[in-house]
Amino acid sequence: MEYHVITSSRSSGIGNGLSYSSKTLQPILGSAVEVPLRNKIVEGFVLSCTEDQLERTYDIKSLHTIVGDIPLLSKYHLQLIQWIAKKYCCTLRSAASLMLPTPPWTSLLPQDFKGYRLSQDSHHESVRGKKQIAVVEDLSHERWVSESSLRESTGASLSVLTTLVDKGILIEEVHREIIKKLPTPDIATPSLTVHQQAAVDAILSSSKPALLFGVTSSGKTEIYADLISRCIQEGKQAILLVPEILLTEHIIVRFLKLLPKESISIIHSRLTPAQRKKAWRDIHRGKIHLVIGSRSALFAPCQNLGVVIIDEEHEWTYKNEQTPRYHARDAAEALCLFSGSRLVLGTATPSLESWDRAKRNVYNLVRLDKRYKDYPYPIVRVIDLSTVVFGNAYPFSTPLIEAIEERLKRKEQSVLFLNRRGIGSALLCLDCKRRIVSPESLLPFTVHRNPSGKDYLMDHTTNAVVDIPDACPHCKSNRLFTVGAGTQRIEDILRTRFPTARVIRADKDTMSHPDQMRSLLSTMANNESDILLGTQSVVKGLDLPNVTLAAVLLADVGLSLPHFRAGERIFQLLTQLTGRSGRAKPGEVIIQTFRPDAPEVSYAAKHGTEEFLEAELALRIHAGYPPASSMVRILFRGIDAKRRAEELVTSARKINASSKLGIIIGCAPTLFGGGKIWHVLLRGSRPRDLLTKLDTSEAVVDIDPMDCL
Ligand code: ADP
Ligand code: ZN
Repeated sequence: MEYHVITSSRSSGIGNGLSYSSKTLQPILGSAVEVPLRNKIVEGFVLSCTEDQLERTYDIKSLHTIVGDIPLLSKYHLQLIQWIAKKYCCTLRSAASLMLPTPPWTSLLPQDFKGYRLSQDSHHESVRGKKQIAVVEDLSHERWVSESSLRESTGASLSVLTTLVDKGILIEEVHREIIKKLPTPDIATPSLTVHQQAAVDAILSSSKPALLFGVTSSGKTEIYADLISRCIQEGKQAILLVPEILLTEHIIVRFLKLLPKESISIIHSRLTPAQRKKAWRDIHRGKIHLVIGSRSALFAPCQNLGVVIIDEEHEWTYKNEQTPRYHARDAAEALCLFSGSRLVLGTATPSLESWDRAKRNVYNLVRLDKRYKDYPYPIVRVIDLSTVVFGNAYPFSTPLIEAIEERLKRKEQSVLFLNRRGIGSALLCLDCKRRIVSPESLLPFTVHRNPSGKDYLMDHTTNAVVDIPDACPHCKSNRLFTVGAGTQRIEDILRTRFPTARVIRADKDTMSHPDQMRSLLSTMANNESDILLGTQSVVKGLDLPNVTLAAVLLADVGLSLPHFRAGERIFQLLTQLTGRSGRAKPGEVIIQTFRPDAPEVSYAAKHGTEEFLEAELALRIHAGYPPASSMVRILFRGIDAKRRAEELVTSARKINASSKLGIIIGCAPTLFGGGKIWHVLLRGSRPRDLLTKLDTSEAVVDIDPMDCL
C-alpha cells in the first residue's frame, strides 16, 4: 500500500504531505507514524492510502513505525482536513493544525507511565530513613503507583526509589495509560415550554442543518440544553460554539446545571499550551461529553460526535481571519455531514447567508417567535442626534439622561452599548454626514486633546498631525462634531453626571479573561452595580433580569462604513440591544443615531427582523453581493503590494474576457492597512473559475471574505 502522510515538520514544500510505502506495516487511517524525511525520522499521521501503483515513476521511502495503538484523528476529521484545504486554498498541514495542538503529536496519544509496586518477598528491615519508610507505607495500600504521584505524595527523590529497587523492596513497572470511558453522566433534563418543545421536535424531524430563528429571550439556550442532553444520553459528544470567549462564562453556568463539571471542556484562545493538550487528550479519550468554546472548538477531537450547535450563528467572529481562513459555520456543515452529526444554528438575527439557505430549503427553518413567558418586547425610542443640543454631556441626549435617572430611582439597572469602533473619536460633518479623513491614508482622523486642552487631528496610520479645520472640506459646513468618544471618556461623563451611581466599564481593556466576566456577571446579578457600560462584544448576549434600560450611545460608525454588510451588522447589533432589556420586567430601549431613517434602524426599532432580512436580501440580489453571488479576496502585503495587485488584475481581466466568466474584478488598498495592504476582489456566480487560473502563490487567498474593506 501507499500511504499519504502529513508530517508535523514545518519544512517548506511538504505542507501537502508525502507518500510512503510499506510491505510490513498496516497503519489504519489517522494513525500517528514515524517516517524518514531527508536524513531524519519525523512524526506525522496517515491521511489516506491507495493501492500500490504498478509502475511508479518515482522512488518512495518506507514507513518507519506506527506510533500508539489508537488513531490520532478519526476518519471524519481526515475528511474535514481535506475539505478545508480545498475550500480555503491552504495546505493540508495548515488545515490539520486546526485539529492538532502544537507538536509533538505523538505525545497526545496514550502514554506509558513508569511506576512501582512492593515486591512480594521484600525484607522491610532494610528500609532506612523517613523518605524510604514513607514510600513503603504509601505503596502498601495499592498495587501500583506511578512515579509522579508517588514522588508527589511522599516527597521522595528518584534516587530514593532506585535505592529501594536495588534493595529488592520495590519493583519498577511500566503501565500504559488506561482509557476508561466515563459512564454517561446523570443529566438534568430541561423542562421546555410548549413552543420550545415544538421547536425541538421540528429540529429533530429532519437531518438537514437546522436554522433556529428564535427571538431574543425565547429560550434558545434551553433548546440547546435539550438537544445536548439527548445527544449525551445516546452516548455521544456535543460541541457548542459561542461567538466570544467571554460569553462562555455566561453559558457555562447554564450547562453546569445540566451535567457535572468533569464532563465539560471549555476551549478558548486563552488556554496555555499545556491546558490545551490536556483538554485535547480528555476529549479524545471520551472523558468529555460537552465541549464549549469559540470557533476553534469546532475542531475538538471528539471521536463520537453527535451534535454541533452554533449560538449566534450570524456573528462575524466565526470567520477566522488568519490562514486557514475558514468560516466555522461552513466548516461545521462539512464536519456534520462527514460524521453524520446534527447541526443547529441558533440566532435572533440570521445571517443573510443562512437566511438564503433556509429559504432555498437547504436548511430546515425552525422558528421560535415567542419570548419566554410571553414577556412583551421593550419599547424602542430612536433619538436623532443631529437635532440634539448637547452641552457638555455629549453623547448623552436629555431623554437618555432622564431614562438613566429613572432607573437609578427605581433601583433598576441600565446597560449602555458603545459602537464597535468606539476606541477613538472622529470629526463628523453634521450636514453632509462625512467624517474628516486624512488625505494620506484616506482613513478618518482621530481627535486628540493635548494637555492644554486644545484638540487636534491625528492620522493613526502615519502619525501625521493637523489642526481642526474650520469647515468641512466637502460641503464647507462649519457644523463639525466629535463623535465616537471612547468608553473611558464616557465613563468619566457618567461619574460626573450620576455621582452616586455604581458604574462598571467592560471593554477589551478591563475584560480580557473569562474570570473577569464571571465577576462582572455576579456584580450585576447581585445588584451591586447600577450601570453597565460596555462595548458590543462584551455586553451582547447577557441575560440580566433587572436590566430595564438598554441604550446604544452612537449607532453610527458602523453605518457609515462603505461595506455591503454594514446594514446587516448594525441591524444585528440593535436587535441584540433590544434583547438585553426587559427580560423579566417591562423594559425600554434607546437608540441614539445620526441617521434615524436608515432601514436597519427603523426595522430594528419595530422588531421587524424578517422584513429587514427580506429587504436586505432583495438589495443583495439587485447589487450582486453575497449570498446572491460569491466573493474571493486576494491580499497582497509588502512594499510592492500595489504593483503586484495591479498585475494580477491585468491578467485576471484578460482571462475573464477571453473565457467569458463574467466576474466583477476590483482592486484597492485595504481600509485598515495604511496603504500598505492591497486586495483584489473577485465577485460573481463562480469566482473560483477565475481564481484557479491565476498565480496567487505570492498572495493570501480569502474565500467568502467577511471583511472586504
Ligand atoms: P435567548 O438565548 O433565546 O435570548 P435565553 O435562552 O437566554 O434566551 O432565555 C431567556 C431567559 O428565559 C433565561 O433567563 C432562561 O433561563 C429563561 N427560560 C427560557 N426558557 C425556559 C424554560 N423552559 N424554563 C425555565 N426558564 C427558561
Ligand atoms: Zn460636510
